[in-house]
Amino acid sequence: MTGTITHISAYYGTFVDAPAFDQPLRLREQCLVAVDGSGRICLVQEQCADPLGCTLERFPHLSRDDVTLVAAPQCGFFFPGFVDTHIHASQYPNCGVLGDDSTLLDWLSKYTFPTEAALSDLAWATQVYSAVIRRTLAAGTTTACYYTTIDTAAAQEMARLCASSGQRALVGKVCMDANSPEYYVETAKEAVEGTLALARYIEDTLASPLVRPVVTPRFAPACSRELLDQLGDISRANNWHVQTHLDENVNEIKWVGELFPEAQSYTAVYADHGLLNDKTVLAHCVHLTTDEVELVRSAQAGIAHCPESNTALMSGECPVVDLYNAGVQKIGLGTDVSAGASCSILDAARRALDVSRHRAMHSGGDKLSLAQCLHLGTMGGAKVLSMDQEIGSFDTGKHFDAQLVDLQSQESKLDIFPWQVGAQDGKSAAGPQPLDTSEIVRKWFYLGDDRNVVRVWVKGNKVK
Ligand SMILES: [Zn+2]
Repeated sequence: MTGTITHISAYYGTFVDAPAFDQPLRLREQCLVAVDGSGRICLVQEQCADPLGCTLERFPHLSRDDVTLVAAPQCGFFFPGFVDTHIHASQYPNCGVLGDDSTLLDWLSKYTFPTEAALSDLAWATQVYSAVIRRTLAAGTTTACYYTTIDTAAAQEMARLCASSGQRALVGKVCMDANSPEYYVETAKEAVEGTLALARYIEDTLASPLVRPVVTPRFAPACSRELLDQLGDISRANNWHVQTHLDENVNEIKWVGELFPEAQSYTAVYADHGLLNDKTVLAHCVHLTTDEVELVRSAQAGIAHCPESNTALMSGECPVVDLYNAGVQKIGLGTDVSAGASCSILDAARRALDVSRHRAMHSGGDKLSLAQCLHLGTMGGAKVLSMDQEIGSFDTGKHFDAQLVDLQSQESKLDIFPWQVGAQDGKSAAGPQPLDTSEIVRKWFYLGDDRNVVRVWVKGNKVK
């Protein structure tokens, strides 16, 4: 294996990641992460004082010219690329236009459906999809699980744009044949044929290692039993991912109960139609009953927690810690653009922290830690998408999907004072101490934004 490596990108400095939900952040200083030409991490060496020397010692057949060194800045670190497990690319134009009294069902009819329908114009779709990919990459999102619209050609365009922009993505064509506006609805046959056409395009025509299809019934109320059955059949037959919404809002849950009286629960609707398995991504899950938690847990489905959206639409507070303790251990973060106004997973992580604290204040129980929120935004998301063997942390064998964070970047809105990075100016040891790595990470968590993301890599390729 070693002999086949002809070039190494050697990343050096502080590496921070959150590989486990119940562990503190992993902080590795003076760390070398070597990445081969295929974008995989082939060496992680801690306590390395000489990155070039360490690389050549490990790969003695290489010369200095075969190694590209990228070092983290003094007040910065490498962090895994974010994973957005739930984002509607098509709704990006509506970010921030939410009304004061919007809740899920009126939000859909007033804002969402008209905008999605308009993106059947391919030129508009290209504008919107290009912008959302550019923004998410800039904010450090290296993998996203996207909804588009019911339009197959526009969904194909989104897949093409993800591949050409170098973003890892799951792309789904929205399927909806019931209880939808007459200007934005399709038949079950059209939905299934469109889904198959998109998947064939992604797998056979595009054939990008970065992009995969995801079967996307919008949510149970917008789908007939016939459509749900057929989507279940094709997802299982092809081992494709499935994404949908679940238990977001109490009126939605009541409506599902009326539409599917034969089902034991909202979750059971998906299970009954073959759509609940270990490749299913369930957005929200704010109001799961004990029986539903057990269904999700035993199916090993993943949950996309969307704290900003849940707050904006007054949907509720997802009990993330309780779900984890009940055995649902595939939980990630979603921006849920555009009910969530920000397409940054760092923002989502901060919102997750806030929501869990509000929940703990009024109902007791455990709150999420900062490290847990960052886990949800990286490794947790990777687990939700069944990609945790490939991405989510810095370990040998994984793809190098990473962001380089710099608290002192040119555009940064953070003020860092000289003594915080070690210049003591002859002051006594009793004065303020330089920030340690953990404090630098906390400052970034609370105050950072895309201006602190100075570079982004997906599969070893620089995309910002
Ligand atoms: Zn959504």
